[in-house]
Amino acid sequence: MKPILCDICTKETHKFYELKSFPVNIYQKNKNKFKKKKLKIFFCKFCNHISISKLKSEIILYKSYKKKNVSNKFNKLSKNDKKKNILEISKEKPIVQKGFKIDHKKIIKNDYLNITKKYNKIIINDCISNIYNIKKFFRKISDCLEQGGEIEILHHYGPGVIKNLNIDRVYFEHINNFSYKSLNFLINQYELTIKSFKLFENRNFFKAILIKKNLKFKNKILINKNFDLIKKSDIEKFINRINQITFKLKKDLGRITFKNKENNIYGYGASIGSVAIIKFLNLDKYINKLIDNFSELKFINLDKKIIKIEKKFHKNYDNLVIFNLAPRYKFLIKKKVFNNSDKKISYFELLPSYNLIKKMPKVFNK
Ligand SMILES: [Zn+2]
Repeated sequence: MKPILCDICTKETHKFYELKSFPVNIYQKNKNKFKKKKLKIFFCKFCNHISISKLKSEIILYKSYKKKNVSNKFNKLSKNDKKKNILEISKEKPIVQKGFKIDHKKIIKNDYLNITKKYNKIIINDCISNIYNIKKFFRKISDCLEQGGEIEILHHYGPGVIKNLNIDRVYFEHINNFSYKSLNFLINQYELTIKSFKLFENRNFFKAILIKKNLKFKNKILINKNFDLIKKSDIEKFINRINQITFKLKKDLGRITFKNKENNIYGYGASIGSVAIIKFLNLDKYINKLIDNFSELKFINLDKKIIKIEKKFHKNYDNLVIFNLAPRYKFLIKKKVFNNSDKKISYFELLPSYNLIKKMPKVFNK
């Protein structure tokens, strides 16, 4: 078999995980239009890049892509930005912040290749992992950056997938999962250098500021170029932890569902990230409903079944079994689950560590 080469450094990569069948377009109900593929995860030992197998065309991924415009505290513009020419590149909708003039380009259909002006600030908002032709992309944006300008990148951090079991980030959209090393390696080829690099949310997200190389920027912030490197043992641990969670889950679930004939098994969180957790941990066969307080989606197609999405779980259902499918919102979800029901609940936290919390009806607690 031909070796798969790293998109970033062209060295040979190693496939370390595979999901036999993963939906390409979960929003598609129609059987003829719905697609699934084998999802493979590759690791490059040299630059620590994690990549996901590419589809022939990325267009199918974004056809029915619905994402609300989210601006968070990490990409708020400052007063100094008012004078700047700003370009934002994102999956779909731009950040809207009053008082700023921001041009916008999408990543789909190579929209970013149509940039005609130069900018002082380019924001690559929540989409660096999704860009299919990453080299063409950096060549173009490097050309469009004014001397003295900055490129701001904000996205999830590749090593977090392995070290924090951040598998809700693993799906066909996220083909490039950058490490500090792979980002640095790539941008160096396009006259860019890293000015600052920060990790946050348990090292699952990063924010990088890039500047032109020939600016002779004196790097005052000491960046350890080897931080968060992934070793072979981290990959082994990753696989073991997933196997362990799947095993415990099956055992515990067997106990609960055996005793009670009627089980209302919910997944809390309905997004493509939730689908990733379902697929990694083999939850397809158990879950019969999904809850999401914010999702605009009505259903998710998991291939073997289409699961309906509800805004809330039914308060009067007894024997509720709930899986947390949005680890990022752990505390919020736990509160929602336990504050809303007096019935018997078995609540599973799956990631990054496994935890089963059982609650008996109030009447027994007294
Ligand atoms: Zn590489």
